Amino acid sequence: MKFDTVIIGGGLSGLTCGVRLQKQGKRCVIVSAGQSALHFSSGSFDLLNRLADGTEVVSPVEQVSGVDKAHPYVKLGDKFAFYAAEAQKLMADCGVQLQGSADKNHYHFTPMGTMKPSWLTISDFDCYDNVAPFKGKKVILLNISGFLDFNTKFIADALETAGASCMIKSINLPELNKLRVSPTEMRSTNIAKVIDKEEVFNKLVSVIIGFSDGFDVVALPAVFGLASDRLVKALKGMVNIKLMPTMPPSVPGIRVQQQLRREFERLGGCYMLGDTVEKAEIENGKVKKVYTTNHGNIGITADAYVLTTGSFFSNGLVAHSHDIIEPVFGADVDFSEDRADWFDANFFGKQNYLTFGVATDEKFRVKKNGKSLENLYAAGSVLSGFNPIYEGCGAGVAMLTSLFVADNL
Ligand SMILES: Cc1cc2nc3c(=O)[nH]c(=O)nc-3n(C[C@H](O)[C@H](O)[C@H](O)COP(=O)(O)OP(=O)(O)OC[C@H]3O[C@@H](n4cnc5c(N)ncnc54)[C@H](O)[C@@H]3O)c2cc1C
Repeated sequence: MKFDTVIIGGGLSGLTCGVRLQKQGKRCVIVSAGQSALHFSSGSFDLLNRLADGTEVVSPVEQVSGVDKAHPYVKLGDKFAFYAAEAQKLMADCGVQLQGSADKNHYHFTPMGTMKPSWLTISDFDCYDNVAPFKGKKVILLNISGFLDFNTKFIADALETAGASCMIKSINLPELNKLRVSPTEMRSTNIAKVIDKEEVFNKLVSVIIGFSDGFDVVALPAVFGLASDRLVKALKGMVNIKLMPTMPPSVPGIRVQQQLRREFERLGGCYMLGDTVEKAEIENGKVKKVYTTNHGNIGITADAYVLTTGSFFSNGLVAHSHDIIEPVFGADVDFSEDRADWFDANFFGKQNYLTFGVATDEKFRVKKNGKSLENLYAAGSVLSGFNPIYEGCGAGVAMLTSLFVADNL
């Protein structure tokens, strides 16, 4: 099998890179082992919320010069704002409706009812310019009976702390009874599939309207529209409904994954889901072939290869007791030799292990034994030098570095 580019990993980075390359007329294959971080997404995409020294970022475009010199954004040079705009455009071209701007972060709700800054938020949710948007408002939190991944009590506590008054109620629809038999079936994605039927959705809407009287805000879990945002749009036009993110799996995040994949395939890309790149043939500093689980000894060849296998969460990096490896190419990994530096006993601390990742040169070419491999690039959360949680820059690094790599192949 021969392609122009093999992309290893089909999450936000791999798909961004693939869509960009297909648009440029390249023939790409994405090999992806399984689910990506998008399946667990909050519904918001972070670009830069905080600098490593703790300074809060209000404007990513204006404050990006403050990132540490190892941060992947430094390699973008003066193209940070350009690629942030291109990322937003790529999402829109894929049909992903987003609000927000790289000039100024906004706030959005977390699944716990607290507020967090971000760059872009899926239009299921609202963006706010302050951390107490429901102050003085009467809010009714409507959950689907038996759905445990929408923590109404936590959310109500957080909203009340921020000045709202809350009531919690459950909705019961006979159509959901089949799921309710087993708590493991009562997940956001399964609920979304049931609600997707027009007659069930209409029934649900009339129940919601029945509860809404006397409240300023009706807050519901985001379990609408796995494949498209049709139902979200319909809902938002009715009463003062605010969708709130749920615990994973994330219905809006899965929708984004599907929208990006659909666009990649529409442009002629080949997406191999459920296959894992296991090893590579490397000769004279160049990758010649990669081999996957499903294709056995039939290798895939290409002019260029892009590693977008994610971090520990997706097995793009694997931690052993005393070292950290990149399992496909045996690439060099930037990490601290002293294991005590890896983590902070305070769960909410900085967690240094999140900054570990594959070592790359100024063009994001992957290093092995200290030397850059000529045709192997890395992008997204497999990279070293940034802390996606502390700095709030996960999606930004995923998208901007992928666009940069695609344009520089
Ligand atoms: C649970 C979680 C939630 C997050 N939520 C947010 C959020 O709400 N907002 C935000 O801005 N950031 C969030 N992040 C940060 C996140 O890392 C980035 O936003 C971004 O989605 C990462 O994309 P990625 O493509 O680099 O990696 P991933 O999304 O991890 O994708 C890597 C892909 O590579 C595949 N893969 C791995 N190894 C192989 C192999 N050998 N062969 C083939 N395929 C392989 C995996 O199966 C996976 O599909 C979250 C991260 C995690 C872990």
